[in-house]
Amino acid sequence: MKKVKQVAIAGAGIGGLTAALALAKANFDVTVFEQASQLGEVGAGLQMSPNAMKVLRALGLEEALRSYAFVPQHACIRHYQSGDYYLKSPLGAAAEARYGAPYWHLHRADLHNALLDACLHAGVRVTLGCRVENYKDQEDKVSFSLSNGEQYQADLLIGADGIRSMVREQMHGQESPRFMKQVAWRGVVPVSELDGVKIQPDACVWVGPGRHFVSYYIRGGKLVNFVAVEERGDWQQESWREEGDINELRSAFSGWHPEVTGLLANAETTFLWALNGRDELTAWHQGRVVLLGDACHPMLPFMAQGAAMAIEDAHVLSQCLEQYTRAQALARYEALRKPRASKIQAMSKENAGLYHMHGGLAGRIKLQAIRAAGQFMPQ
Ligand code: FAD
Repeated sequence: MKKVKQVAIAGAGIGGLTAALALAKANFDVTVFEQASQLGEVGAGLQMSPNAMKVLRALGLEEALRSYAFVPQHACIRHYQSGDYYLKSPLGAAAEARYGAPYWHLHRADLHNALLDACLHAGVRVTLGCRVENYKDQEDKVSFSLSNGEQYQADLLIGADGIRSMVREQMHGQESPRFMKQVAWRGVVPVSELDGVKIQPDACVWVGPGRHFVSYYIRGGKLVNFVAVEERGDWQQESWREEGDINELRSAFSGWHPEVTGLLANAETTFLWALNGRDELTAWHQGRVVLLGDACHPMLPFMAQGAAMAIEDAHVLSQCLEQYTRAQALARYEALRKPRASKIQAMSKENAGLYHMHGGLAGRIKLQAIRAAGQFMPQ
């Protein structure tokens, strides 16, 4: 059996572009198809932990990203009103010394642009406005149709097409995500518009009854990113681009610490999304088709590891394809990646209620145990 040469990727998100770059650097012939007619990540922050930074460094992106990064000084968990610390764990230079790579905060658009530039430079073809619609696994090729009416063939199709993956659906059938009875609001506020509100240079989770709030700087400290999570009974739209009512958000967090209310007072817009839980898939590959990132392990955001796991997947998949024949490579990729990503997926789900102070003192003690249990940041 031969090694793969020509690779097609459905989806130019963070996972798809990282895979494209890693494969192009290893001399594969790579084409990416993206359904959106324009590339541009929606405005929100990403915490890039050292595990993901090691891959970005190996791909030569660390220097290109440095001026866009913000280096948080601590990972903190704080009381929603008093601001008392349940956890204050050093990041910054301490994290870099401990894990061998930095812990950075990035704007998604900055990471996405750096990946895209590097892909184009490495010879990746990126076709926009082209949805991969269905595939047919043939003996010597995989063929698929595109939304522009064309047919395409490759040795391998990578489904990096996100949480509502068409490739996953064709491989496994339709699934039914479960609403976790929580919604998340997100937004960014320019520091120049903070009106004197002082935000600590940390990755901070503010915990309160039935709600929590995450805040941190991005883009070299020019913007503050926030994610506010609230328990809800019935809302289920799963889109990050659903505009929310900023006044409703302000009133949901009124009475919270001045860092939180001050940030929200100066926010102009916010977006809302429903949090859905999903079970582990039985398999990540079939024949000449393989899944990566949110397409195979969509996770709740409570470990800040969705993009990091997609980046790790991309690196491992590329290395396996470099070393082995196609069937061996896909089996090895799944064996290496599935246990780790599934564990983080399960831990993210477990953390869902943890930040909402259910159980009073027991909840507090559990929070303090997060660090000991290594649940704040995987290594
Ligand atoms: P996506 O980024 O969803 O990309 C999929 C791409 O495929 C899209 O461009 C889509 O248009 C395209 N596509 C879809 N269907 C098709 C098709 N049929 N044909 C062609 N193209 C298609 N992760 C972290 O590691 N750290 C964090 O701090 C963090 N914070 C987050 C905060 C928020 C508000 C959210 C929403 C998520 C956060 N995550 C974080 C998770 C992370 O953003 C996702 O896990 C990550 O973006 C997944 O990347 P992906 O490439 O697998 O999918």
